[in-house]
Amino acid sequence: MSRIPFIIGNWKMYKDAAESVQFCEQLAGAIRVAGDREVGVAPPYPVLPLVHQKLRNSRIRVGSQNLHPQKEGAFTGEVSAEMLVSVGCSFAIIGHSERRQYFKESDSFIGEKIQAACRADLDPVFCVGETLQQREAGQTESVIKSQLEGALGSVSHASVQRIIVAYEPVWAIGTGKTATPETAQQVHALVRAFFASRYGTESGERLRILYGGSVKPDNVDALMAQRDIDGALVGGASLNAEHFARIVNYNG
Ligand code: PEP
Repeated sequence: MSRIPFIIGNWKMYKDAAESVQFCEQLAGAIRVAGDREVGVAPPYPVLPLVHQKLRNSRIRVGSQNLHPQKEGAFTGEVSAEMLVSVGCSFAIIGHSERRQYFKESDSFIGEKIQAACRADLDPVFCVGETLQQREAGQTESVIKSQLEGALGSVSHASVQRIIVAYEPVWAIGTGKTATPETAQQVHALVRAFFASRYGTESGERLRILYGGSVKPDNVDALMAQRDIDGALVGGASLNAEHFARIVNYNG
Protein backbone atom coordinates (compact mmCIF):
# COMPACT_ATOMS: atom_id res chain seq x y z
CA MET A 1 0.00 0.00 0.00
CA SER A 2 1.46 3.36 -0.91
CA ARG A 3 1.38 6.06 1.69
CA ILE A 4 1.62 9.74 0.77
CA PRO A 5 4.54 11.30 2.67
CA PHE A 6 3.68 14.21 4.93
CA ILE A 7 6.23 16.88 5.94
CA ILE A 8 5.18 19.16 8.78
CA GLY A 9 6.91 22.23 10.18
CA ASN A 10 6.34 22.75 13.91
CA TRP A 11 7.03 26.41 14.59
CA LYS A 12 6.72 25.99 18.37
CA MET A 13 6.62 29.42 20.06
CA TYR A 14 8.33 31.29 17.23
CA LYS A 15 7.16 33.86 14.67
CA ASP A 16 4.89 36.84 15.24
CA ALA A 17 2.42 38.08 12.62
CA ALA A 18 4.92 39.93 10.43
CA GLU A 19 7.43 37.07 10.50
CA SER A 20 4.69 34.57 9.66
CA VAL A 21 3.57 36.54 6.62
CA GLN A 22 7.12 36.84 5.37
CA PHE A 23 7.72 33.11 5.86
CA CYS A 24 4.53 32.14 4.00
CA GLU A 25 5.46 34.29 1.05
CA GLN A 26 8.95 32.80 0.89
CA LEU A 27 7.76 29.22 1.32
CA ALA A 28 4.93 29.41 -1.19
CA GLY A 29 7.46 30.73 -3.72
CA ALA A 30 10.02 28.00 -2.96
CA ILE A 31 7.92 24.83 -3.16
CA ARG A 32 5.25 23.45 -5.39
CA VAL A 33 3.12 20.88 -3.65
CA ALA A 34 2.15 18.15 -6.09
CA GLY A 35 0.14 15.01 -5.43
CA ASP A 36 3.13 12.93 -4.34
CA ARG A 37 3.58 14.61 -0.95
CA GLU A 38 1.69 16.63 1.61
CA VAL A 39 3.12 19.65 3.39
CA GLY A 40 1.89 21.37 6.51
CA VAL A 41 2.87 24.06 8.97
CA ALA A 42 1.85 24.32 12.62
CA PRO A 43 2.20 27.96 13.72
CA PRO A 44 1.35 29.41 17.14
CA TYR A 45 -2.38 29.94 17.80
CA PRO A 46 -2.58 33.73 17.25
CA VAL A 47 -1.34 33.59 13.66
CA LEU A 48 -3.32 30.55 12.50
CA PRO A 49 -6.01 32.52 10.61
CA LEU A 50 -3.38 34.75 9.03
CA VAL A 51 -1.23 31.83 7.92
CA HIS A 52 -4.26 29.98 6.61
CA GLN A 53 -5.23 33.00 4.56
CA LYS A 54 -1.71 33.50 3.21
CA LEU A 55 -1.36 29.85 2.19
CA ARG A 56 -4.86 29.27 0.90
CA ASN A 57 -3.83 28.88 -2.76
CA SER A 58 -0.71 26.83 -2.04
CA ARG A 59 -2.04 23.38 -0.98
CA ILE A 60 0.12 23.73 2.15
CA ARG A 61 -1.94 22.51 5.09
CA VAL A 62 -2.23 24.44 8.33
CA GLY A 63 -2.45 22.73 11.70
CA SER A 64 -2.19 23.44 15.41
CA GLN A 65 0.44 22.42 17.94
CA ASN A 66 -2.09 21.39 20.57
CA LEU A 67 -5.79 21.49 21.48
CA HIS A 68 -8.10 20.97 24.43
CA PRO A 69 -10.36 17.90 24.37
CA GLN A 70 -13.58 19.74 25.31
CA LYS A 71 -15.68 21.41 22.64
CA GLU A 72 -16.15 24.58 24.70
CA GLY A 73 -16.36 25.62 28.32
CA ALA A 74 -14.67 27.36 31.22
CA PHE A 75 -11.10 26.38 30.40
CA THR A 76 -9.25 29.68 30.44
CA GLY A 77 -6.43 29.85 27.94
CA GLU A 78 -7.45 26.73 26.03
CA VAL A 79 -8.59 26.19 22.44
CA SER A 80 -10.89 23.44 21.15
CA ALA A 81 -10.55 21.29 18.06
CA GLU A 82 -13.71 22.84 16.63
CA MET A 83 -12.26 26.35 17.03
CA LEU A 84 -9.13 25.25 15.20
CA VAL A 85 -11.16 23.88 12.31
CA SER A 86 -13.04 27.18 12.14
CA VAL A 87 -9.78 29.03 11.39
CA GLY A 88 -8.61 26.61 8.72
CA CYS A 89 -6.72 23.86 10.56
CA SER A 90 -6.84 20.35 9.13
CA PHE A 91 -4.45 18.61 11.53
CA ALA A 92 -3.24 18.95 15.10
CA ILE A 93 0.02 17.90 16.74
CA ILE A 94 -0.88 16.04 19.93
CA GLY A 95 1.31 14.78 22.77
CA HIS A 96 4.52 16.50 21.69
CA SER A 97 7.31 15.69 24.14
CA GLU A 98 7.51 19.35 25.19
CA ARG A 99 3.83 19.15 26.23
CA ARG A 100 4.50 15.91 28.07
CA GLN A 101 7.55 17.37 29.81
CA TYR A 102 6.57 20.96 30.63
CA PHE A 103 2.79 20.59 30.91
CA LYS A 104 2.72 17.10 32.42
CA GLU A 105 0.36 15.71 29.81
CA SER A 106 -0.51 12.10 30.52
CA ASP A 107 -1.10 9.35 27.97
CA SER A 108 -4.80 9.24 28.80
CA PHE A 109 -5.21 13.02 28.38
CA ILE A 110 -3.40 12.72 25.05
CA GLY A 111 -5.90 10.00 24.12
CA GLU A 112 -8.78 12.36 24.87
CA LYS A 113 -7.20 14.97 22.63
CA ILE A 114 -6.82 12.46 19.80
CA GLN A 115 -10.49 11.55 20.13
CA ALA A 116 -11.45 15.26 20.15
CA ALA A 117 -9.41 15.95 17.02
CA CYS A 118 -11.18 13.14 15.18
CA ARG A 119 -14.58 14.35 16.42
CA ALA A 120 -13.85 17.71 14.77
CA ASP A 121 -12.38 16.29 11.54
CA LEU A 122 -8.78 17.17 12.35
CA ASP A 123 -6.04 14.63 11.62
CA PRO A 124 -4.21 13.97 14.90
CA VAL A 125 -0.42 13.84 14.62
CA PHE A 126 0.22 11.75 17.70
CA CYS A 127 3.79 12.04 19.04
CA VAL A 128 5.62 9.29 20.87
CA GLY A 129 9.28 8.94 21.81
CA GLU A 130 11.73 7.81 24.45
CA THR A 131 14.22 9.85 26.47
CA LEU A 132 17.97 9.24 26.31
CA GLN A 133 17.88 7.61 29.73
CA GLN A 134 15.15 5.23 28.61
CA ARG A 135 17.02 4.36 25.42
CA GLU A 136 20.22 3.70 27.32
CA ALA A 137 18.32 1.48 29.74
CA GLY A 138 17.06 -0.60 26.80
CA GLN A 139 13.48 0.54 27.35
CA THR A 140 12.72 2.07 23.97
CA GLU A 141 10.29 -0.60 22.85
CA SER A 142 8.39 -0.78 26.13
CA VAL A 143 8.14 3.02 26.40
CA ILE A 144 6.77 3.41 22.89
CA LYS A 145 4.27 0.60 23.39
CA SER A 146 3.09 2.00 26.68
CA GLN A 147 2.65 5.48 25.16
CA LEU A 148 0.63 3.98 22.31
CA GLU A 149 -1.46 1.80 24.60
CA GLY A 150 -1.98 4.53 27.19
CA ALA A 151 -3.35 7.00 24.66
CA LEU A 152 -5.21 4.70 22.31
CA GLY A 153 -7.22 2.94 25.01
CA SER A 154 -9.86 5.68 24.92
CA VAL A 155 -9.81 6.22 21.15
CA SER A 156 -12.56 4.60 19.09
CA HIS A 157 -11.68 2.19 16.31
CA ALA A 158 -13.09 4.59 13.69
CA SER A 159 -10.94 7.44 15.00
CA VAL A 160 -7.79 5.34 14.93
CA GLN A 161 -8.02 5.23 11.12
CA ARG A 162 -7.35 8.97 11.05
CA ILE A 163 -4.26 8.98 13.21
CA ILE A 164 -0.81 9.90 11.98
CA VAL A 165 1.99 8.91 14.35
CA ALA A 166 5.18 10.93 14.79
CA TYR A 167 8.12 9.08 16.30
CA GLU A 168 10.23 11.72 18.00
CA PRO A 169 13.04 10.42 20.20
CA VAL A 170 13.30 13.08 22.90
CA TRP A 171 17.10 12.98 22.80
CA ALA A 172 17.02 14.03 19.14
CA ILE A 173 14.67 17.00 19.47
CA GLY A 174 16.44 20.33 19.12
CA THR A 175 19.79 18.72 19.97
CA GLY A 176 21.28 18.27 16.51
CA LYS A 177 21.49 14.51 17.22
CA THR A 178 19.40 12.67 14.67
CA ALA A 179 18.51 9.03 15.04
CA THR A 180 20.28 7.12 12.30
CA PRO A 181 17.87 6.13 9.54
CA GLU A 182 18.23 2.49 10.65
CA THR A 183 17.47 3.30 14.30
CA ALA A 184 14.41 5.32 13.31
CA GLN A 185 13.30 2.57 10.93
CA GLN A 186 13.38 -0.01 13.73
CA VAL A 187 11.00 2.00 15.88
CA HIS A 188 8.75 2.86 12.93
CA ALA A 189 8.45 -0.85 12.12
CA LEU A 190 7.54 -1.51 15.72
CA VAL A 191 4.82 1.16 15.67
CA ARG A 192 3.39 -0.25 12.44
CA ALA A 193 3.40 -3.78 13.88
CA PHE A 194 1.57 -2.50 16.96
CA PHE A 195 -1.19 -0.96 14.84
CA ALA A 196 -1.37 -4.04 12.61
CA SER A 197 -1.78 -6.44 15.51
CA ARG A 198 -4.31 -4.26 17.26
CA TYR A 199 -6.38 -2.86 14.40
CA GLY A 200 -5.64 -5.21 11.50
CA THR A 201 -2.98 -5.50 8.80
CA GLU A 202 -4.63 -2.92 6.59
CA SER A 203 -4.69 -0.29 9.34
CA GLY A 204 -1.03 -0.99 10.01
CA GLU A 205 -0.11 -0.67 6.35
CA ARG A 206 -2.14 2.49 5.90
CA LEU A 207 -0.72 4.26 8.97
CA ARG A 208 1.61 7.15 8.21
CA ILE A 209 4.53 7.36 10.62
CA LEU A 210 6.59 10.55 10.55
CA TYR A 211 10.06 10.89 12.01
CA GLY A 212 10.99 13.94 14.09
CA GLY A 213 14.25 14.94 15.75
CA SER A 214 16.79 17.27 14.16
CA VAL A 215 15.64 16.62 10.60
CA LYS A 216 17.72 18.90 8.35
CA PRO A 217 18.27 19.43 4.64
CA ASP A 218 21.34 17.18 4.77
CA ASN A 219 19.77 14.15 6.46
CA VAL A 220 16.22 14.13 5.14
CA ASP A 221 16.95 12.09 2.00
CA ALA A 222 18.45 9.16 3.94
CA LEU A 223 15.63 9.19 6.48
CA MET A 224 12.94 9.29 3.81
CA ALA A 225 14.55 6.35 2.01
CA GLN A 226 13.55 4.03 4.86
CA ARG A 227 10.62 1.73 4.24
CA ASP A 228 8.51 2.78 7.21
CA ILE A 229 9.34 6.49 7.35
CA ASP A 230 6.43 8.31 5.78
CA GLY A 231 7.36 11.90 6.42
CA ALA A 232 8.94 14.26 8.91
CA LEU A 233 7.94 16.49 11.78
CA VAL A 234 10.48 19.30 11.67
CA GLY A 235 11.13 21.84 14.41
CA GLY A 236 14.19 24.09 14.17
CA ALA A 237 14.81 23.68 10.45
CA SER A 238 11.19 24.52 9.63
CA LEU A 239 11.65 28.11 10.80
CA ASN A 240 13.81 28.98 7.84
CA ALA A 241 11.80 28.91 4.60
CA GLU A 242 14.79 27.96 2.47
CA HIS A 243 15.77 25.04 4.73
CA PHE A 244 12.20 23.86 5.09
CA ALA A 245 11.69 24.02 1.32
CA ARG A 246 14.77 21.83 0.82
CA ILE A 247 13.37 19.31 3.30
CA VAL A 248 9.99 19.34 1.55
CA ASN A 249 11.73 18.88 -1.78
CA TYR A 250 13.68 15.85 -0.51
CA ASN A 251 14.88 13.44 -3.16
CA GLY A 252 13.01 10.21 -3.11
C1 PEP B 1 9.98 19.01 17.02
O1 PEP B 1 9.82 20.01 17.66
O2 PEP B 1 8.99 18.27 16.83
C2 PEP B 1 11.30 18.69 16.50
C3 PEP B 1 11.48 17.53 15.94
O3 PEP B 1 12.27 19.64 16.64
P1 PEP B 1 13.74 19.66 15.92
O4 PEP B 1 13.51 19.38 14.47
O5 PEP B 1 14.26 21.03 16.17
O6 PEP B 1 14.54 18.58 16.55
